[in-house]
Amino acid sequence: MISLEPIIGQSHAVRLLTRMLENDRLPHALLFTGIDGIGKQTAAKALAMALNCLRSAGVLACMECRCCKKVISGNHPDIIIVEPSSRFIKIGQIRALRKHLSFAPVEGGRRVIIINDAHCMNVEASNAILKILEEPPDNTHVVLTAHQTSDLLPTIVSRCQHIAFNPVPVAKIVEELANRRDVDEDTATTIAVLAKGSLGRAMSADIEKWMGWRKELLGRVISLSGGSMHTLFGFAEEVSKDKDKLQDTLDMFIMWFRDILICKFHPEKILNNDYAPRIERISKEFSVDELLNRITAIFATQRAVLKNANRRLALEVLLLNLYLSS
Ligand SMILES: [Zn+2]
Repeated sequence: MISLEPIIGQSHAVRLLTRMLENDRLPHALLFTGIDGIGKQTAAKALAMALNCLRSAGVLACMECRCCKKVISGNHPDIIIVEPSSRFIKIGQIRALRKHLSFAPVEGGRRVIIINDAHCMNVEASNAILKILEEPPDNTHVVLTAHQTSDLLPTIVSRCQHIAFNPVPVAKIVEELANRRDVDEDTATTIAVLAKGSLGRAMSADIEKWMGWRKELLGRVISLSGGSMHTLFGFAEEVSKDKDKLQDTLDMFIMWFRDILICKFHPEKILNNDYAPRIERISKEFSVDELLNRITAIFATQRAVLKNANRRLALEVLLLNLYLSS
């Protein structure tokens, strides 16, 4: 349901938006940042609904009036959502938007423009949006969503009131998974960790597929130990082909070595519970320093891959560090 209240794990953002609505001091331009699947787009729609609801003058939309129903069905003429078509938001889309803005709102309420994934705007589109932000039409609010402020032109960021949406804590995602999906606690924990703070990702996950992938991968992670250079490089070649999959694979590596480390102090806190006896055995083979070095190396590889380093080479070096160094 589209409402500000149930946006899970975002109490700070919800509090700020609520206060702006209650005091009728909503800025013309807002920027919501954070990873995918944490409620940015839901919050933008909830805001649009609260502003246009015919029965409520406050924070909560009634969900039943003509305007609320139009927002829910995506047919409200004054709530305009711009999204990337293929990979980019193109200048043509912003030109069409500017033309639309030259007319008054159809329903006579407040118009809300939601630019989803604003980091996908090319330079031309960014400059065109900037013009709208510099001279916003009356009764119009623009909400941009993006991963982080550094992905946008500084001139765009400086025109917006910035609200950061935080990754949802693992415990909260586990709780929601347990409430809404039929999963045991161990599975919920694994899915929550792999979702990296994205409640949306966890909720829409194909759990069977994720768990199957994890099992296969952990089997490989274990068998790589004691494997030849040839085996390590073969694995690097295979996994490095897909950038997104590589990040997920590296997340699993972090989770695995984190468990081996934490097992030394708090064995009850390991996340891969179904592998507990093996983790306990491996934990005795490594010193704390050796494990910390490995975890640091995995994080460094993730950063390098994000910065478009040669994936295969980065992974080869990492695997040598993980498996063939002391
Ligand atoms: Zn309403």
